[in-house]
Amino acid sequence: MSNIAQLYESVKDRVAAAAQKSGRDAQDIELIAVSKTWPAQTVAELIECGHDLFGENRVQEVVTKVPALPARLRWHFIGHLQQNKVRKVLPLVETIHSVDSSEIARRIDFIAADLGLFPKVYLQVNTAGEAGKFGFPVDTIRAEFDSLLQLERIEIIGLMLIPPLTTEPSLTRREFVALRELRDELADHSGLPLQGLSMGMSNDYEMAIEEGATAVRVGSSIFGDRKAWKSKE
Ligand SMILES: *Cc1c(COP(=O)(O)O)cnc(C)c1O
Repeated sequence: MSNIAQLYESVKDRVAAAAQKSGRDAQDIELIAVSKTWPAQTVAELIECGHDLFGENRVQEVVTKVPALPARLRWHFIGHLQQNKVRKVLPLVETIHSVDSSEIARRIDFIAADLGLFPKVYLQVNTAGEAGKFGFPVDTIRAEFDSLLQLERIEIIGLMLIPPLTTEPSLTRREFVALRELRDELADHSGLPLQGLSMGMSNDYEMAIEEGATAVRVGSSIFGDRKAWKSKE
């Protein structure tokens, strides 16, 4: 087995174990392999393992990598999206995890109508209220959620979080719980079956699953350390 195949099997095992530990079905948890900075040939190694769901955070990488790989793959966009890049990325991805303002939500909705698409989106929330970080402040999403639901082309499937950088697991867990509780609150309030919780990365995906994640975004635990590619990040 190649190194990537081994790492991938081990991540899948850990996802399944974390699901079982919390009485959940591993089928309900999407494993998004974050292939940012890795070339198409590295992605191809994981495709050979039977994986078909990938995440990217740069429009430029999406535009070059997606057409170079089999059309049956599914791509999720997980990075901050600028208004003027929406038209480029929308036809290439099925889901956007990083809708971080009402302005970009409206822009995606408008372009989707123009292109005849119905993209799925997560709303990214800055639960910790970190300064200078992307994501809806909690009060803003509460205030703007109803008007976001009016947008006709985008389907809001849940909330997404990038937790603050910390080595203290209890602080990360607190943000996962905060995102889940906010999801439950917005679901109750709107009467919508808002299910999705996109949270958990290489360092904390098991904890995220324990706290209800429905999508985990795992890069370096599958592909290895990105440091060698740092200049491209
Ligand atoms: C890079 C990235 C990930 C994956 O990070 P790893 O620590 O390598 O698993 C997940 N989510 C987002 C938004 C990212 O940019």
